[in-house]
Amino acid sequence: MDFIQAGPELTNTFADDRLLRAYLDGALPAAMRAAIESDLDALGAQAADAWRVARSRPSVEPVLTQWDAWGERVDRIEITPVWHDGAALTARFGFVAAGHDPRFGEFARIDQFARVYLYHVASEFYTCPLAMSDGAATALKAAGNRAISERALPHLLARDASQLWLSGQWMTETAGGSDVGNTETIARRGDDGRWRLSGRKWFTSAVVGEMALTLARPEGAGDGADALALFYVETRDAAGRWNGIRIDRLKDKLGTRELPTAEIHLDGTIAEPVGELARGVRLIAPVLNVTRTWNAICALATMRRCLALATSYARVRRAFGRPLIEQPLHAATLASLHAEFAAAFELGFHVAALLGRTETGAASDDERALLRLLTPLAKLWTGKLAVRIASETCEAFGGAGYIENTGIPQLLRDAQVYPIWEGTTNVLALDALRVLSKSGIDPFRNAIEAMLADAPSHAGAIDTTVATAARWFHEYAGEREILEAGARGFALTLARTYAAALLARRAARTSDALARAALARFLDHGLSRLSANPAGKGDALLG
Ligand SMILES: Cc1cc2nc3c(=O)[nH]c(=O)nc-3n(C[C@H](O)[C@H](O)[C@H](O)COP(=O)(O)OP(=O)(O)OC[C@H]3O[C@@H](n4cnc5c(N)ncnc54)[C@H](O)[C@@H]3O)c2cc1C
Repeated sequence: MDFIQAGPELTNTFADDRLLRAYLDGALPAAMRAAIESDLDALGAQAADAWRVARSRPSVEPVLTQWDAWGERVDRIEITPVWHDGAALTARFGFVAAGHDPRFGEFARIDQFARVYLYHVASEFYTCPLAMSDGAATALKAAGNRAISERALPHLLARDASQLWLSGQWMTETAGGSDVGNTETIARRGDDGRWRLSGRKWFTSAVVGEMALTLARPEGAGDGADALALFYVETRDAAGRWNGIRIDRLKDKLGTRELPTAEIHLDGTIAEPVGELARGVRLIAPVLNVTRTWNAICALATMRRCLALATSYARVRRAFGRPLIEQPLHAATLASLHAEFAAAFELGFHVAALLGRTETGAASDDERALLRLLTPLAKLWTGKLAVRIASETCEAFGGAGYIENTGIPQLLRDAQVYPIWEGTTNVLALDALRVLSKSGIDPFRNAIEAMLADAPSHAGAIDTTVATAARWFHEYAGEREILEAGARGFALTLARTYAAALLARRAARTSDALARAALARFLDHGLSRLSANPAGKGDALLG
């Protein structure tokens, strides 16, 4: 009889996640930890069910219908069944609302991101518009526009599915995503005093949402990013008609295929300035800080899913007389990936915790500066690592890892989005340099020193790398071109070093065997990614 291979098993992803459970035990007050246990357990069960269901049916993608049978322009997007469930799950588990829940104070963000981490892979990237909605809620709170806040916040933070709104963030245009200074959308104020937008938005992942925050250039305001204003848009009028929005097409994407990312034209779209016109880029910054944190947590969720499946498969797949998990090299390969993931997990959730402390006024000046630095660092490192771990996961399944209906290739295709949207790796590395030029490297160094005071036995490698990175930064401080050319390696070095210190503290404080094993392997991979040859522009290799 032909041999039939058993596939990987996915059981309750919360019950099985030793890392998450240990982290929450240490990070949350005991009563709060106990209060959220049943929700997290339900999300873990839902994730396992969703994986089984997804394996048993063909994948479905959103469909755009632009015209009805009689020639009327309708621009209707049919979303997938999993997306249809998104609002009810969001209302029940508060994926956005939990992060703003005053009952949990500075810990609300940790609770929220634990929920997001458990939901993300099952959500078919419904977490993308949720991230933008959370970003919009955070930006509106910061902007202090009372009328818009009173209208939108109750919907963005709703725990009732019928009231829930999704928000888009429409920044990218054909002439620029990283460089929004190239924005061509024009805002004109009519005789009726209302603002109307005209232009083309090239990537809009939540046009199915009820609102958006978008950048536009007030007529006559001049060139560049500093002349941009931030506008609040409701996508439809009271009768349900589009607010001057045409959907040109849905993007045909490598991954995230269930997420309806649209190209749209704005043609007289009624909009309201969120704040002072010339402060648009500053007003939208809170959106980016929040969505970058979501990105880091979602990248971690993908890594965790990859490793859970690869480890499960290694237990049931045999080669050369024993299960793969007993082959020393295969086991070492997986353990190395686990170690990278464990370190990245510490950094991602540390950023979530710092965000909560900053938003509730509990953070010190140093912690606020650290949050500004660690947010881009966590986003850029987790984005790259998710792609690497997803790629290794395909390989860990051998040929099966290349076959669509195992579900494994999708993990890799989807992971490739993490380093691109919400700021590419290079753009974020430059952002980190900008933060350091303003606040200096001391808050970073002080935080690491404080963590190592608890974990002196691991101080050597970490201290040395911090000193080398600081020297590198100061040496090239006046040489912008060299600094920029080396920024990616520098940023990765800072991210890895900070994560190592977090892991070392956990290992020392809790005698957690998992943290100790992860730390030893992680340090073995080396912390520094500094380039010995930060060439760049004019490099002979570029011809
Ligand atoms: C699936 C998906 C959904 C998206 N949804 C949305 C959405 O809802 N709303 C939205 O606004 N956008 C969205 N985007 C767009 C995304 O945010 C942009 O694609 C991204 O910010 C990059 O911008 P760009 O495409 O213009 O690339 P470019 O800015 O042209 O970048 C090209 C390359 O140049 C590099 N680069 C640029 N500047 C520098 C520099 N100074 N130094 C070194 N390297 C540099 C970048 O790192 C990148 O590798 C989405 C993208 C995807 C893939």
